[in-house]
Amino acid sequence: MSNHLFAFNHFTSQLPILSYTMPVLFIGHGSPMNGIEHNSFSMQWANMATTIPQPTAVLVVSAHWLTKGTHITAMQEPRTIHDFGGFPPQLYQVQYPAPGSPTVAAETVNLVRSASVQLNHDWGLDHGTWTVVRHMYPKANIPVLQLSIDASKSPQYHYQLATELALLRKKGVLIIGSGNMVHNLGMVAWHKLQEPEFGYDWALEINQVFKQLIINKQHNTLINYHQLGKLADMAIPTNEHYLPLLYTLALQTAADGVQFFNDKAVGGSLTMTSVKIG
Ligand code: ZN
Repeated sequence: MSNHLFAFNHFTSQLPILSYTMPVLFIGHGSPMNGIEHNSFSMQWANMATTIPQPTAVLVVSAHWLTKGTHITAMQEPRTIHDFGGFPPQLYQVQYPAPGSPTVAAETVNLVRSASVQLNHDWGLDHGTWTVVRHMYPKANIPVLQLSIDASKSPQYHYQLATELALLRKKGVLIIGSGNMVHNLGMVAWHKLQEPEFGYDWALEINQVFKQLIINKQHNTLINYHQLGKLADMAIPTNEHYLPLLYTLALQTAADGVQFFNDKAVGGSLTMTSVKIG
């Protein structure tokens, strides 16, 4: 009986509201190699972490966790997932042993109304998360969670769901959407992938359109990106790398400013353009 009561109290314990609101990030994660390379992108991730308050937890919506229904990692010790193929052995040896947070997972379940968020004990931290967060918080001493993307739902649905996470910002949780605004693997110029910067004209053009819409807070246009025509369809052949951007934008308040970083294209058809809100 006492064990049961303890478990119940633990589940319902809540983080306090703080005197400040955490910013929200969208991060273009690009190649998994960024996880072990100290290049201009990963250095900016590390730098970003020094400019914002130390979070109580990090909650990542990664392009690489697509599910039916919406799930949140709720284990104490999330595993490091090496969800890629064909990379050097050293990338598979990386472990990022950040703790999880059953408390933040439970709070998220309670906050979200548009979905019945399921507590997950099987996933962990995929490369959309750890390749970025290990540069930001190399000590792995801040709890990290992931919220999955329900692949059966519309962009509008994801945007609405994300608005329901707003209170977490006031509780010190750093919410990160991890994807890429322009992400067309079928058109990658593989022979130019080693260059620090290379974008096809169409990729640079639509990336600029996305940025202007973000600056203008035209979120409805970004939600209905198909209406932007052929270039948007080329940038978003499948939308799993784009949807994390909508999670980030949905959390913008009237008081929040917008700042871009890592605003570069690589491999022709990928952009690393990242956004800080707040
Ligand atoms: Zn990816």
